[in-house]
Amino acid sequence: MPLRLSHPRLAGLIAGTALLLGACAETPTPEAEQISSKPGATVQRIEPSAAQVQVAVPPAPAVTFAEWRTRFRLKALRAGIDAGLFDRALAGIEPDASVVRADGAQPEFTRPVWEYLDGAMSPVRVRKGQALLAEHAASLQAIERRYGVERETLVAIWGMESSFGQFQGEHSVIRSLATLAFEGRRPQWAEEQLLAALQILQSGDIGPNGLRGSWAGAMGQTQFIPTTYLSHAVDFDGDGRRDIWNSSADALASAAHYLQASGWHHGKPWGFQVALPDGFDYALADSEIRKTYAQWHALGVKGTPAGLAPNDTGYLLLPAGHRGPAFLVFGNFAAILKYNNSSSYALAVGLLGQRFGGGGQIGGSWPKDERPLGRSERIALQQGLAAKGYDPGPADGIIGANTRRAVRAFQQSLGLPADGYPTPALLQRLR
Ligand code: CA
Repeated sequence: MPLRLSHPRLAGLIAGTALLLGACAETPTPEAEQISSKPGATVQRIEPSAAQVQVAVPPAPAVTFAEWRTRFRLKALRAGIDAGLFDRALAGIEPDASVVRADGAQPEFTRPVWEYLDGAMSPVRVRKGQALLAEHAASLQAIERRYGVERETLVAIWGMESSFGQFQGEHSVIRSLATLAFEGRRPQWAEEQLLAALQILQSGDIGPNGLRGSWAGAMGQTQFIPTTYLSHAVDFDGDGRRDIWNSSADALASAAHYLQASGWHHGKPWGFQVALPDGFDYALADSEIRKTYAQWHALGVKGTPAGLAPNDTGYLLLPAGHRGPAFLVFGNFAAILKYNNSSSYALAVGLLGQRFGGGGQIGGSWPKDERPLGRSERIALQQGLAAKGYDPGPADGIIGANTRRAVRAFQQSLGLPADGYPTPALLQRLR
């Protein structure tokens, strides 16, 4: 889904805020990543154990829903929405309490990246993807030729976002976004999306009953948020409508169009697993430190750089810290991050695409004895780092660049590998 609080950033929305919405299919977990930008919308996965989910209760809105609607109606009409269409689209709509709850959920539990990847690349999903690659070979070939995005990547995204169209979300997009605009955590974002949703209705691409999606407004087989739909959805099957809900050709081509616009390069790798030498300086594993493969190789990093140009630069990704597998990731990985700003998601898409052809296996082992920190532990980590004079940023439980930098500095002060990856043992050292 190109969404997430992050969504497709496309729009650049979210950017500064780090909220996580959750919505889609399977969202990655780990830490910070979480702000995605799906072209859709993102959202962070809400784990099922209700007991472990705190709900942030936003202040009650200062106006009634009817007052909000009257004010928003003026805005929509000024933006060119037809008054009759607006009134029909919002007729009888009341806020959806389940959407408010989902928006405020702050899950304590964080799923380990190895479990996330296992789920993303389940044998059932791999087999289904292989069958669909064969079934849709002709349209996938045409899409690949037009947009320059490999079909395996498109089918991997299709599987990740909606289980190949099977789970697209049953919420009324208009009702969900109206609810979020009225009393959600990001009302401005939701109003912008709601306006875009009304423009979609006005375009005639889909009717009001067909405009369905996740609670956060991620729509169709690609889980595009409305602004991403307006900017990147395409009619590929030629029936005159951009139908990402019912036409797999339209959905796959729309995802391809989005990736193309995000800088995808046909024939290049998203990245590959690498081996690191003994004594490697793990502080180099930072998304802001980019080098060519030759430069990494000179540092003892070894992989198989097929398809890269000599001047392509990439960074070292350690999804579970220095004890787990290491990957070098390049420009196409960054393009997948524009779809959904989570390294775990991008890794899953890259590897799943390879699994369809029998590759994508991960060598080595994960540190399964080391569970990821839960939300309250991440907050405690940030508070502990701040108390020791480091600068981890706000204690919001989101492990972003500032927190990673502070973790590295603390690790260095203890003489530990400075991978920036917080563990329960490290948190113990702070307490
Ligand atoms: Ca169409």
